[in-house]
Amino acid sequence: MSPSVKLHSHELTKHQSLVLNALAREENPASAYTLLDHLRAEGLRAPQQVYRALDKLIEYGLVHRVETLNSFVACAHPHDHRHGLVVFAICDQCGQVEEFSDQAIERRLKGWSKDHAFRMSKASVEMHGTCGRCDHPPAVESAPHGL
Ligand SMILES: [Zn+2]
Ligand SMILES: [Zn+2]
Repeated sequence: MSPSVKLHSHELTKHQSLVLNALAREENPASAYTLLDHLRAEGLRAPQQVYRALDKLIEYGLVHRVETLNSFVACAHPHDHRHGLVVFAICDQCGQVEEFSDQAIERRLKGWSKDHAFRMSKASVEMHGTCGRCDHPPAVESAPHGL
């Protein structure tokens, strides 16, 4: 996993690059309004501009929508646009989201879809819970949470 956004085949517009970079800087999933707040200085004014850029970035596989949080994350592995079924593990304590893809789950869903004549266009699995760090915080309690 490289922190830099890899070059990809899509030409990004200025707004798309701004949104992607802003998202890559976020530690946790961000809503379109959070992104807009961070991008006002760059000249973005309307939520619509952010949504339009996000739509394209999602289409290109560079960004995922986390449905249950109504937020967006930069893809953890943007080099692999076709990684199939994406699973998100969402910590409800700190808000951190881990992304991975799992072929076994994907095969199951595809098998079921085939059996039921269901044409799947996309699927995502979102697990909510507590991450290892929040579940077993370091013994020292002095560090304040947040900024
Ligand atoms: Zn991804
Ligand atoms: Zn956590």
